[in-house]
Order: sequence, then structure tokens, then C-alpha cells
Amino acid sequence: MSRLIIVSNRVSVPDHKGAAAAGGLAVALQAALAERGGIWMGWSGKSSGEAEPEPLEMTQDGNITYALTDLTQTDVEEYYQGFANRVLWPICHYRLDLAEYARKEMTGYFRVNRFFAHRLAPLIEPDDIIWVHDYHLIPLAAELRQMGLKNRIGFFLHIPWPPADVVRAMPVHEEIMRGLSSYDLLGFQTDHDLENFAGCLKREGMGIEKSPGHFSAHGHDFRGGAYSIGIETAAFAAFARKAASHSMVHKARKSIEGRDLILGVDRLDYSKGITQRIDAFERFITNNPAHQRSVTYLQITPKSRSEVPEYEAMQHAVAEQAGRVNGAIGTVDWVPIRYINRSISRPILAGLYRLAKVGLVTPLRDGMNLVAKEYVAAQDPDDPGVLVLSQFAGAARKLHGALLVNPYDVDGTANALARAVNMPLQERQERWRGMMDYLLEHDVLHWCETFLADLTAK
Ligand code: UDP
Repeated sequence: MSRLIIVSNRVSVPDHKGAAAAGGLAVALQAALAERGGIWMGWSGKSSGEAEPEPLEMTQDGNITYALTDLTQTDVEEYYQGFANRVLWPICHYRLDLAEYARKEMTGYFRVNRFFAHRLAPLIEPDDIIWVHDYHLIPLAAELRQMGLKNRIGFFLHIPWPPADVVRAMPVHEEIMRGLSSYDLLGFQTDHDLENFAGCLKREGMGIEKSPGHFSAHGHDFRGGAYSIGIETAAFAAFARKAASHSMVHKARKSIEGRDLILGVDRLDYSKGITQRIDAFERFITNNPAHQRSVTYLQITPKSRSEVPEYEAMQHAVAEQAGRVNGAIGTVDWVPIRYINRSISRPILAGLYRLAKVGLVTPLRDGMNLVAKEYVAAQDPDDPGVLVLSQFAGAARKLHGALLVNPYDVDGTANALARAVNMPLQERQERWRGMMDYLLEHDVLHWCETFLADLTAK
């Protein structure tokens, strides 16, 4: 069996605290690496001086080698904070208005990809299979090809891929499309993302889809497919069962005093629709005064990317909005919204999901949204909660038992909340069972194996 080489911006070097700490993606990739032996390469998360780069930081764990590289401060600013997070992230989440195209950052992005290729190439053997992850590293295959590598190289995009008119707003869209076309297999989260990619190739006149999922562009034949990423369903369900006895979860249960818990869990990001969601919660209470004091809405929102100005501004906006709504609809003995700006560990999160009557997951755009899947996996089969899910999350393509909403439609989401808190047990169980069966079958290991089987198939 060929060795596997994984490349991603950040690397999960194991700390042997178990799956709960690592997260499903890391566990699945580590399992695939352990089966085949190989290397996981990426950025160390540290920035170094502008002089000659330090040697790669190598850690051996069984038959897996972790190879980490530092980047210079300029690299981090241009490649990571700049082009990846201020151009590709907003563009791929359909936010043309937030994209900032600084020339030097675009150059920095391609420069760092070349740097990654030069650091990686000496570690590669001719039979190795290379799997590159996510939007930070789109040009990597083209760089490796330029260095003469003939290995099979696959790419998985964890975030959405937008339609041609959105992509074309990006000044370097041709280079980005050429970068994607240099892989042997392109994986997208959903069939919609794949369709958008095929539409881009066609609109640009860059290539054709010869048959479904088989493309030809820039003189290179390659394949594309939809591979919806899953979670470690069975393991997560087990954490959730155990978490019920965790002291923090116990305290949370006590503090809601028998009220129904509505739970939102999102990194602080404009793609997550948090302000629209708070509006919808307010509307739900205003339209359904009988539910005043019978529910508590807990929004867990760890900060992210606070070096990017849009994120800093959002932090203030959401805190202010939660405060305003609490002031408007709260009573002396009831705080409607609890807003937490800190990250919660996965075992506690699993217990909170299980405690929640409603999982409120309403991104404006999301590649998949693992929180939606974790919420379902964590439920008690005898008394499952209801998932209220944005139709614009990749997860909505398969989780048919959710109440699907348009997150821009505040009244529609408020109505779905009312329906969720009033849903009879039998309907909750039927909806949950279908989703859980799907998640058990399509877990993250299935995702990993399916992608790798397609990448290795001739
Ligand atoms: N998460 C966590 N603690 C928190 C909030 C989130 O561990 O306080 C985890 C959550 O369990 C999920 C991931 O972060 O696995 C978020 O993934 P998702 O696909 O929902 O969104 P992303 O942040 O990748 O856009």
C-alpha cells in the first residue's frame, strides 16, 4: 500500500488525550496515516524571523511523521491573515462585499505555497499519495508538478465553492482555477459546490466536464466529486451519554431550572448568521409570549481570527445585540439569552447538546457545519431534541429530519423555533432516527476512506 502524505495549513500533532480532544477530522486522518504510514505536513502556527527558514520540526509517532514548518511574520500576514482569510474565505462564503484584494497579499499566498512545495518535495517518494486540505493550499499541486512530481495528488475543500460570477470577482481567479485543475481528484462538500466548480470552468472557457465528475482543463484530465465530511458519530454519541454526569453539565442543567434549552454553537464568524439568529429568537418570544420564561437561549461563540478587522467589529456587534435583546424581552427573574465568548471543551459540549431541546444552527453559508451533526449524534434516543438548520449549510443536503430554514427570513426561523419547542415526542424521534442512521453510516472514517479509494483508483 502506498504511503499517504497529508498537507494542511495546521496539523493536529497528537497529544494522546483521546478522540474527544482531537476532533473527528484529526482522528480520521491519523487513522488513515496509521494504516498506510506517512507524513502530515503543515504550518507550526509559529512565525520566525525573515532569515533562512529553520529546518522542519519533525515528530515521529509510530509510522506517522509530523513535519511542521514556521513561516515568517510577513508570510503569516500575507498568506494566512491576508489572502486566505480576507479574500478566499469571504469569496467562498459569497461575501464579495468583505473581500479585500491587496496585491502583495495575493503574491504572498502564492509565494508561501511555493515554499511549502519546496519543503515537502524532498520528503516525497514516487509511490506516495498526496492529499492536500483546504483553501490555504490551492496552488500546492501546481507547484509540486512544476518541480517534476508525478504522484497522485488530491484536494479537499472544507468550505463552500461559489458560483462563477462570485469567483470571477477575485482578481487572481484564473490562477486559482488553474491551481484546482492541477489535482487528480477534487473533493467538495456537496453536489452544489461541485456544480459551481463545473460552472466556473465552463464560464471561464478553461475546460469541460467530459462526463459527470470527469473534467479536462489546461491540458490535464482530473476528477471531481462530492464527499460530505462526517463526524465520529458513534464515539460522539458515547461522549454525550457519559457527559450527562459531568459536573459542568450538571450545573448547566440546574441553572436552566427546567426551562427548555435552545443552543447555538459557532465560532464568531460573519458566515454563521449569529445576529440574524438573535433577531429570530427575539421574534419567536415576541410572537409567542407563552414561551416567555419557558426557554433559555445559550449561544456559545468562541472568538476567532480577531486580527482580522471584520471579526473584531462583529464581536462588539453580537455582544451589544444580545444585551439589547435581553433588555427588551427579559424579566426580573429571566435572562433570555446567555452569550458565552469562550471555547467549550468537546466532552462538555457533547453534554450541552444532549441537554438542549433545540439545536439552532443557522449559518448564512457553511461548507458542512459539524455542529449540526454533533448535535444530532449527542441526542438521547428516548427524548431527542430538534435540529433547526439553515438550508445554506452543507449539512442540510443530507439531514432531512431537520427543520430547514432560510436564515435571512427572521419570521420563518422564529416560526421554526416555535414548531421545534412544541414538537411531539413521536415526531422528534422519527426525525432524529433518520438523521442518526445516516450519520452512523456516513461518519468521518467513511468520508476519508471514500475519498482515498477514489484518489487511488486508476
Ligand atoms: N467547537 C468546540 N468548542 C466550542 C465551539 C466549537 O470544540 O466552544 C467545535 C465543534 O464541536 C465543532 C467545531 O468546533 O467540531 C466547529 O466546526 P463547524 O464545522 O461547525 O464550524 P467551523 O468552525 O469549522 O466553521
